[in-house]
Amino acid sequence: MGRATTISAFARDAFAPLIDLVFPPRCPLCGEALATQTGLCSACWADLAIPTEPACSTCARPFPPGVEGGAAQCAVCLADPPLHSGIAAATLYNDASRKLILAFKHGRKIALAEQLGQLMAAKLPEPDGQPPLLVPVPLHRWRLWRRGFNQAALLARSLEKHGKGRVAVDVLVRQKSTPMLGGMRRKARERALKGAIAINRRWANRLKGRDVILVDDVLTSGATSNVCVKALRKAGVRSVKVACFARVLNEALGEQAEGHTAENITPEVTKTLGAT
Ligand SMILES: [Zn+2]
Ligand SMILES: [Zn+2]
Repeated sequence: MGRATTISAFARDAFAPLIDLVFPPRCPLCGEALATQTGLCSACWADLAIPTEPACSTCARPFPPGVEGGAAQCAVCLADPPLHSGIAAATLYNDASRKLILAFKHGRKIALAEQLGQLMAAKLPEPDGQPPLLVPVPLHRWRLWRRGFNQAALLARSLEKHGKGRVAVDVLVRQKSTPMLGGMRRKARERALKGAIAINRRWANRLKGRDVILVDDVLTSGATSNVCVKALRKAGVRSVKVACFARVLNEALGEQAEGHTAENITPEVTKTLGAT
């Protein structure tokens, strides 16, 4: 267990006006016609897994029921303290969030960027003082060619609309294309990613003391986001929070899934994700 409560009626209602403008009332996951435009049909809403409390004080990984929260850290953070200063995940990766990300990547991207972005924004605090920079994880080059857009950048724009910071779309650049990281052990992943992501020279002298929110659609093992966080910290950034729409919590799956897009994760693997 330790899983997921369903999305609140509040969030559901908040979505309606946005979506009405953009596409006719039909559920983007299952195609069911909707009487009123609420983004998803109620069955699909109920299938999204929202991270619960209590959770790890460092990375927000939900604890199993009955475990005290407070200042406790999860085993993963204790074993290897992360460089980031927190993870904000809208959902836990499961079949419903996987389908939503697929729909996002294969059409309807503007409307769904708004929906996914709104769910992510709900997990981020209101900025006080200088707004954080919203920095998308840069896309593998071949994937950008194929898809024509970076989904993380669209999500960052949506977060900006919700007042969570300023988009800075080109802070990080991919310097080399990385091989698929799926199946690699941690050391091998680190080697493959070495030098893959760097700070754009245009930004080199403008990052000192800033707070950054690193934005991605799916967070798997964290190998890629760690490389981004490392580069940002080295450039003088004060803190980096990681914001994602769907977070994979099964570490074994993370090893397989890192470097893959959601569509490459097989149904057999996703089935194991029901319990977290
Ligand atoms: Zn549906
Ligand atoms: Zn943790």
